[in-house]
Amino acid sequence: MDRDAILLTPGPLTTTLRTKLAMLRDWGSWDADFVAMTAELRRRLIAIIDGADSHVVVPLQGSGTFSVEAAVATLVPRDGHLLVLDNGAYCKRLGKVATLMGRRTTIMAHPEDEAVSAEALDAKLRADPSITHVGFIHCETGTGVLNPLQAVSDVCRRHGKGLIIDAMSSFAALPIDARAVTFDALVAASGKCLEGVPGMGFVFIRKAALAACENNSHSLAMDLFDQHAYMEKTGQWRFTPPTHVVAALGEALKQFDEEGGQPARLARYADNCATLIEGMKGLGFKPFLAPALQAPIIVTFHAPAVAGYDFKAFYAEAKRRGFILYPGKLTEVETFRVGCIGAIGRNEMQQAVNAVADAMRALVWAR
Ligand SMILES: *Cc1c(COP(=O)(O)O)cnc(C)c1O
Repeated sequence: MDRDAILLTPGPLTTTLRTKLAMLRDWGSWDADFVAMTAELRRRLIAIIDGADSHVVVPLQGSGTFSVEAAVATLVPRDGHLLVLDNGAYCKRLGKVATLMGRRTTIMAHPEDEAVSAEALDAKLRADPSITHVGFIHCETGTGVLNPLQAVSDVCRRHGKGLIIDAMSSFAALPIDARAVTFDALVAASGKCLEGVPGMGFVFIRKAALAACENNSHSLAMDLFDQHAYMEKTGQWRFTPPTHVVAALGEALKQFDEEGGQPARLARYADNCATLIEGMKGLGFKPFLAPALQAPIIVTFHAPAVAGYDFKAFYAEAKRRGFILYPGKLTEVETFRVGCIGAIGRNEMQQAVNAVADAMRALVWAR
């Protein structure tokens, strides 16, 4: 096949030709043109959450997890206590990140097919005043469940606790307004719903919170206070920036604005998600989550109850037809996942359903 397969995954995602073409130049990291590109990128990012008055945005090299780790390292003091609201794999990763760097960490477990509970958080914060920060995943990509951002933020604000939000898979698709949602840090990345290529993350940090973060980080590379101070002073990244990723994200952000910003992106992804679920239900597949909990980002389906089904073979058949699926991430039930995000629309989702139908026929025929 001379066309790239469509990526139905939580990232990297299918990007537009325009975004890919933006990577065909080499940039000097401290040249004025690249400094201007970084400044423009930061301006566009902060505008998405209407956060210019209250927050700064600090870009960081690496995959999204690097920025999650940097946010915890920078925001949570070494004698702080992080409570992680856990209903899936990415929540557990956040807990592991904090534990490994030696921050006191408490995990508050929820079932994977339910949203985390703002009421339970409220009770926990009342019971344990030693908690200083709360870690929260907006869309838990392990299942696709949408967690209650506003309610959790309201509870944290009432208790005066710092909220660290992993909005990696929701940012730019679901609405997040820094004037309505109170948080100390919100983490996202280039290669998710902004439809850039992977290679950098960025963290929105509340200005008042950042001021108290000097020397919190145990790590030089992960220190967002330092990265921010250097960037403000010089306009440059502290260490070698992912220049091509920055250029591609700049081009992706222009297309994001041209499309109509976050509301337009949400509308396209919601349509993708509805098209996918309707088509898959028509083939007999069952979504794992109740509809009210499903974010229009990625859908977990139960593995088909067909003799001879095996994810690897199913994946290979779908790939032959031009679509890359994603394995499930649940321990108890056998599932697989299909993403609804990236530079794709209803046609691609319908073609994906056709490819799944074809793949299932091939698997059954192969027996
Ligand atoms: C994608 C994602 C991350 C980051 O994953 P990387 O593989 O490091 O890019 C973190 N949290 C959530 C919720 C995600 O969807």
